[in-house]
Amino acid sequence: MRKLKVGIIDLVCKRPTKTLWAQIMHANLASIMPQVIATWCEQEGHEVTLICYTGQEDLVRDLPRGIDLVIIGSFTQAALLSYALSNYYRSQGVVTVLGGPHARCYPDDAIHYFDYVLGFTNRSTIAEVLNNCVPQKPLGKQLSAGKQPSHLCGVEERWKFIKPTLDKAPFLKIIPMLGSVGCPYTCSFCIDSEVPYQPLDYQIIASDLRFLLTKFKKPWIVWHDPNFGIRFDESLDAIASAAPLKSFSFIAENSLSILSDNHLKILRQNGFMALLPGIESWFELGNKSRTSRISGEQKVVQISDHINNIFRYVPYVQTNFVFGLDSDGGSEPFELTKKFLDRTPCAFPGYSLLTCFGEAAPHNLDYQKEGRVIPFPFHFLNNHLAMNIKPKNYEWVDFYDKVIDLTEYSFSPRAIYRRFKNGSQATARWMNLMRAVSSEGWGRIRFYRKVRENLVQDRSFRKFFEGESKVLPHFYRDIIKKDLGSWWPWLPQSALSHNPNAYLHKTQSKPLVHSPVEPG
Ligand code: SF4
Repeated sequence: MRKLKVGIIDLVCKRPTKTLWAQIMHANLASIMPQVIATWCEQEGHEVTLICYTGQEDLVRDLPRGIDLVIIGSFTQAALLSYALSNYYRSQGVVTVLGGPHARCYPDDAIHYFDYVLGFTNRSTIAEVLNNCVPQKPLGKQLSAGKQPSHLCGVEERWKFIKPTLDKAPFLKIIPMLGSVGCPYTCSFCIDSEVPYQPLDYQIIASDLRFLLTKFKKPWIVWHDPNFGIRFDESLDAIASAAPLKSFSFIAENSLSILSDNHLKILRQNGFMALLPGIESWFELGNKSRTSRISGEQKVVQISDHINNIFRYVPYVQTNFVFGLDSDGGSEPFELTKKFLDRTPCAFPGYSLLTCFGEAAPHNLDYQKEGRVIPFPFHFLNNHLAMNIKPKNYEWVDFYDKVIDLTEYSFSPRAIYRRFKNGSQATARWMNLMRAVSSEGWGRIRFYRKVRENLVQDRSFRKFFEGESKVLPHFYRDIIKKDLGSWWPWLPQSALSHNPNAYLHKTQSKPLVHSPVEPG
């Protein structure tokens, strides 16, 4: 087999950008799988260059000349950039591959733009691509290992690819690690709800932690587990076996149900600095917060007390919510969230608008059957720029009014000040402040106001939201064009649209009917 020149691009962001946030934080958002694939490609005997795209790199110049194969890892929000890149590289005779969440959610769309589209990926999947590195036309080939691999390269094996990415982060350098894949819970909107929970090798975890101590005095580590600590004792024993207590600073996303006092005490002893528990809804999904028997105001009180208690042990907590669920109606979910904020002034609120990511979760079939999925371009599918499911119990303007009101409340000068003043640690306080005044807080308010204004003033805009028109409003097209910048000419115009019901058509074994959105 000839030695290939392989380029791997991890799309952390969806457009060229030089914002302060991007410069400080984007390199800390690198994904693990592109690093694993880079390692596998090298182990198969190929020459590999990995770029973590933080918005500042030159995606042509930074890959070596004469590249044979480009593998791009992308979330759905960066899909259009990945399609443009693929188009460019294919025009140069390079074979292109898409992996990551977008490839898993929208494989039938992606095969129009890539030679290979990867679902679950293990080393054999990658070997198959490397051994058949030839263009696949007119449609790309879908490959999937059928399940998550039970073994992934650890930090030490990936270090060659981790280090250059961390070198881009000027201050805080956060290393991504994985202790498990999948999740035992079944939240209807979540891509991990269908992936069986599987812990990874605890010995590799412990040895990776020891390795990191040879590189940093006190490493910052973010666990990319969808739900960290399901096997709490084994995970924490692995950490404790690696080094004396508090040798590391950890960030993890987990369920409230595991954050008991006893566990919190252990997490504090082991250096956990930031936790991101999901509350999601005041009316459903209570199983993962041990509140299945209560809802509404009672749940607010109980969870608020729980979160305030977490702050006795951990300086930074982000609480995650989803709005637009079918169980929501009227003002109550939003007003209850305000009450929660008043009672829990230190918590940073992370809001998502309900989104149907193709075939990510089986519940998406119901939305598609009901004809409620709106074909917003992928560029806006990041859980907040667009809600691509028509809400069951709201009309659009009313829904946006409530979202704007809550977001303004959450990032009002008063709320920001309270979060800053009550924060127990300087890094946590500044992180909250930066996030609030950036695109995540104030930026979102501006964007939502603009959407609301268009809903009221522009009939064609409203018709698109109602599913009565497939003509993409200029508002969205213009943003994509501006965001992609020099990559816009490489974006196939057909990529502005996708079949929002592809998953349903597939499961009904009907031929896929592509009903394109007109570019407008
Ligand atoms: S608990 Fe979290 S990771 Fe697990 S299914 Fe629910 S949202 Fe997904």
